[in-house]
Amino acid sequence: MTAPAPIQKHTFQVFRDVPPLRALRREILLANRTVGLVPTMGALHEGHLALIRQAAAENTDVIVSIFVNPTQFGVNEDLASYPRTWDSDVAKLEALNAELGQATTNQDTTTSPPQGRITAILAPTAQVMYPTVPPSSEIDGDGSFVTITPIARRLEGASRPVFFRGVATVCMKLFNIVGAERAYFGQKDIQQTVVIRRMVKDFHVDTEIKIGATVREADGLAMSSRNVYLGARRRAVGLVLYRALKAAEERYAAGRTVQRRAILDAAEAVTQQVRAEQEALAPTQRARFEVDYISLADPDTLEELEVVDPAKGAILSGAIKMAPLEETVPGEDCGLGEGKVPVRLIDNLIFAPRA
Ligand code: AMP
Repeated sequence: MTAPAPIQKHTFQVFRDVPPLRALRREILLANRTVGLVPTMGALHEGHLALIRQAAAENTDVIVSIFVNPTQFGVNEDLASYPRTWDSDVAKLEALNAELGQATTNQDTTTSPPQGRITAILAPTAQVMYPTVPPSSEIDGDGSFVTITPIARRLEGASRPVFFRGVATVCMKLFNIVGAERAYFGQKDIQQTVVIRRMVKDFHVDTEIKIGATVREADGLAMSSRNVYLGARRRAVGLVLYRALKAAEERYAAGRTVQRRAILDAAEAVTQQVRAEQEALAPTQRARFEVDYISLADPDTLEELEVVDPAKGAILSGAIKMAPLEETVPGEDCGLGEGKVPVRLIDNLIFAPRA
């Protein structure tokens, strides 16, 4: 008789509800250990893993939340089709814990803080996160919400009116549940970091907000869970946003100008050129896109700037919408959804303050 296969046990605990997580949190606190929280919506990629590595370098215990938050999706947005990849997410977190365990073994703790590990995944149900009024995506929907205005109305908020209300609300819930010393967010979603920093300040939340650099593909495209919908053709053209931002950054960094118009003209020249190239191609070859915005804004308020104060710096950010493919070629890599899903890409660069 063969022995039954051992039950696979994770190196972290998985929580679906709040009270057991709170009990763990108390244990960690009493042991003088610290918690770094990394909020995610799953479909994990290297961008998420980099944030977790940073959290593990700065805390003994990392809690990763995986929750596709309904209230940040507008009524016509992609909540139903948002990629959900639980098994592969868990496998990636297991592999990362093995890597972090290895780092612990090799570590010289006399010179560096102890290397942390992923201790828990919080994967709550919508009922747990929204225990009374069901989550609403309607602008005037009922519920208990956190709103951070006017920041939340700007940029991404202009085309996604409930987005930052949903983000701020779910992050406030997660902060209250976990009581982390630190929470980690990616620069990739720069406006989100500005909203969350403002929320933490205004509500005196006792969690320090840390920002991790944007993780990119080899050619510069910012990693995103939604990139799986692009396919090869839109993936290549989608790089236009990063290239446009880089051109604007170059004009500023060269010290030639601090003027908005001159900086943004450099970005526009790139988007216009790529658009013209695409329009000249056949529908079986081209990928059409629209520029939603390219912004040059104050790093704290996200108010648009006419002139950059080099002592303060600025945030250069943009969004483009890749249209569905008009015609596809048999055998073409069109991505998940066969090229029919419009994909919004965002990216940004920070102009750091100059001394
Ligand atoms: P999401 O699951 O898309 O809500 O993202 C969860 C966290 O990962 C957010 O703080 C994002 O800003 C961050 N993140 C997503 N993509 C990247 C990336 N390419 N580089 C760094 N952080 C990222």
